[in-house]
Amino acid sequence: MSVIPGKKTKVTALPGDGIGPEVMAATMKILAEAGAPIEWEVAEAGAEVFKKGSVTGVPRETLDSIAANGLAIKSPLETPIGYGGKSANVTLRKYFELYANIRPVRELPGIQTPYTGRGIDMVIVRENVEDVYAGIEHMQTTTVAQCLKLMTAPGCERIIRAAYGLALAEGRSQVMVATKANIMKLTEGMMKRMGEKVAPEFPTIKSGHIIIDNCAHQLVIKPEAFDVIVTSNMNGDIISDLAAGLVGGLGIAPSSNLGDHAAMFEAVHGSAPDIAGKGLANPTALLSAAIMLLRHVGAFEVAQTIEQALFITLAEGKNLTGDLAPRGHGVGTDAFTGQIIDNLGRFSTMPSRSYKNLELKTWPELTAHMEPDTRELVGIDVFLETDLRAEELGRQLEALALDSPFTLSGISNRGVSVYPPTGGQTFLVDHFACRFMFKRPIPLIASKSEGQAEISYLVQRIGAKFTWMHIEKLQRFDGKDAFERPQGEG
Ligand code: NAP
Repeated sequence: MSVIPGKKTKVTALPGDGIGPEVMAATMKILAEAGAPIEWEVAEAGAEVFKKGSVTGVPRETLDSIAANGLAIKSPLETPIGYGGKSANVTLRKYFELYANIRPVRELPGIQTPYTGRGIDMVIVRENVEDVYAGIEHMQTTTVAQCLKLMTAPGCERIIRAAYGLALAEGRSQVMVATKANIMKLTEGMMKRMGEKVAPEFPTIKSGHIIIDNCAHQLVIKPEAFDVIVTSNMNGDIISDLAAGLVGGLGIAPSSNLGDHAAMFEAVHGSAPDIAGKGLANPTALLSAAIMLLRHVGAFEVAQTIEQALFITLAEGKNLTGDLAPRGHGVGTDAFTGQIIDNLGRFSTMPSRSYKNLELKTWPELTAHMEPDTRELVGIDVFLETDLRAEELGRQLEALALDSPFTLSGISNRGVSVYPPTGGQTFLVDHFACRFMFKRPIPLIASKSEGQAEISYLVQRIGAKFTWMHIEKLQRFDGKDAFERPQGEG
């Protein structure tokens, strides 16, 4: 986006809950004083909306406003406990498919931490809508809960491209893909492989991969070595909070949530109900989110003016809110806001980075599908409930499969092979994955329904004796197994 002189960009503003309206008012005041070319359209979301009976916490008018403007700034929204339904924050992220969560982590002047002086300046790019946070969960038995971790090729590609786009826009030199591909070879492995596929398109940027647990370790040991980290939803949730802690905590951390059709900017902290309405809240995080918004719309100069006023205010330490000032010297939100306004036009010794427009690839509106050249059905996993020991279950299932097109290849319990016996000491729960392989794999060229009669036959036989929960087809795409083997399978 670029700024058209004299024209204001309309942005939906959600003042939110708790300290939200106070930090929003402070942010709007500073932007107005700095001459930011923004016109606010204030809309409702959060606790008050839940109290009116909404299950999403976001009324239709608010969704329409964000859809029309394509831009929103959001104060914290409370997730109700005991009434209402979903988190309003998650509703907004999912509704607008805001797939890229951008969390800058930079040492701020005047904010003393054990890492002060190390020059931490990185961005964590977190996939925001897939992974285990899709919340697809089922109780399998009364003792076994399951959460599906769905990761997709387009989901991995767009977040990795967003990371490279951001690196280019911010003049950054390195992108590290952080995954748990060593354990989850298909899901996390997809992110790693996508990183390797996309990296050669960006030869000016140093690309690499790091295992997520080592990434957490390195973030604590040598955080200044990181530039851009891109990772999946849950990994990103954890390491972005960890990284924020290195430079002063969640209270001062901003973030943006970007999608193809909308972008939402927010403070990372919550509504801090204990200090709400007391005029004590620190608006730094929301103001920093507003600075990200200004850069997103191409208003680079005014963004820098406000950022420098914030930096110098923090560096000089005059009129800071209670969370930042030495004990007993804190001022209220208004005085801190006034100090930043007084400092507009001054420059700190910490330079602002130089920014360019962030170019994100727009994805086509279709149901993403990629047909392999060959597809074979090689077997099924049947997940069933029983309190039998593995040997007895194996014996019974082998007998059931005897005159069927399948052979029982093995049984696993919580991902560990338990039949044929391995000698391992696996604790058993009443949830077994029983793998049946077709005696002859079925090529799925003519019709994708081939093999279904055989599967129905076997499942009916199993169902007559056992309670089964679900069935997974085992396929081979382009000659490659599209499934993993349980731990310890011979
Ligand atoms: P929180 O609101 O971030 O508050 C934790 C503590 O951090 C506050 O009690 C306050 O501590 C301090 N704090 C946070 N922001 C501050 C600021 N701007 N200025 C000064 N101090 C600040 O976390 P929470 O208590 O876990 O969550 C409260 C509510 O917020 C919950 O309903 C939660 O669902 C919601 N929440 C929303 C979002 C979001 O909308 N993105 C994110 C997180 C939580 P002291 O005053 O004790 O120092």
